Amino acid sequence: MHPLFDYLGSRTDATIKTLDELVRIQTHVPPGDNYEKAMDYAASRFEHLGFDVEKIFMPRELFEKKNPRLTHLKGDRVNVSATRDVGAKKTLLINTHLDVVPASANWSTPPFECTVKDGRIFGRGVADSKGGPAALFTVLSALEELDIQPEYNLNIALTTDEEMGPYSGLCYLADLGKLKADHFLSMDGDSDDITIASNGNIDWQVDVYGRSYHSGSSFMGVNAIENSIPVMNELMALKAKVEKRRSKVPASMAITEKTGLKTLMPVLNITVMNAGVKQNIVPDRCTMKGDRRFIPEENFDDARLEFDSAMKNIKNKYPYINFNYSCDEIYAPMLTNMDHPWVKEVQKVAGEVSGREVRLAGAQGSLDVAYAVKVTGLPACCFGIGRRMESNAHGDNENIRIEDLEMYTKFLGKLIAG
Ligand SMILES: [Zn+2]
Repeated sequence: MHPLFDYLGSRTDATIKTLDELVRIQTHVPPGDNYEKAMDYAASRFEHLGFDVEKIFMPRELFEKKNPRLTHLKGDRVNVSATRDVGAKKTLLINTHLDVVPASANWSTPPFECTVKDGRIFGRGVADSKGGPAALFTVLSALEELDIQPEYNLNIALTTDEEMGPYSGLCYLADLGKLKADHFLSMDGDSDDITIASNGNIDWQVDVYGRSYHSGSSFMGVNAIENSIPVMNELMALKAKVEKRRSKVPASMAITEKTGLKTLMPVLNITVMNAGVKQNIVPDRCTMKGDRRFIPEENFDDARLEFDSAMKNIKNKYPYINFNYSCDEIYAPMLTNMDHPWVKEVQKVAGEVSGREVRLAGAQGSLDVAYAVKVTGLPACCFGIGRRMESNAHGDNENIRIEDLEMYTKFLGKLIAG
């Protein structure tokens, strides 16, 4: 094993150069204009490494049908599937996304290039999630040059639209049957924990209707905002009930340290509210939106029935309130058996290369990986480079530690070489 580790240790500059090249291709979404450029870059790297490479475009119609709120995003939705059969018994699926969130004007370094400073690399996407592919290219080159046979056949899926969803490139590849493997490593995660579970996600919306009128005679109209109050109260009662539940899956280390919460919990939130035009007009519509995150032990049908029954309560108690609602599953929850040999293997290797015990944990948020797991049934582990409390993924000055990037090449090297 040592020759590989030594070699990888000497290749950090090359990894940073690859990462810089990836960060410079501005794949922020919205709008996701440069997806093809990023995928062409990845495809040519894989071809040089002897992989069979397929560039996969999500058909526009399907993209718009599955993501009705994203129809304004122009540009091709491009993904890459790269496979290499080495004649091994088992196949390892490795995935992450090459799209990133946009960068604000408040960065202290140029966001779309890598800046190395104080032992860190700054750039949009270095943590979420371009560092993983950069490390992977270094590892695959190392295996070639040192003539080390991978322990697994490799199926690598680099995808897009994870940051927008719900129906990302990974979901499409899952539906196309392109994710055939025995084990699944998602590089879309941080290095604090190994994520083996995630909450499911439901988007809900309630529209309360009124009748607009001159507010001086407001009693002649119907005030949609005031009629929303009983609706909100009912939702708050449901929130209290839902949020008493606890999963058996451990919460992330960051959450446990900050809040004392030991396991995943479900939540219900009101996150959007739109109503009213002007002080002197009775509002004729109030739109509330929110989400409901459900733990792996719950399921969408039960969560929806529970939401339905809250809405029924409102109808019974306040028959004069006129409203409509919707409640849609965005992502299923994910749960990989914590005793699965693949989970044990990933945990062992992560522990060895990082020199600490890496815990298994669930994510409060939802992952497109969960969709792929639902379709394929694969045991999945998410482990990445960034640190939750330091890397500022999605924020300004996103960064990773250089030592963590090196750790990650060793992690991938050991995992792939066996
Ligand atoms: Zn990500």
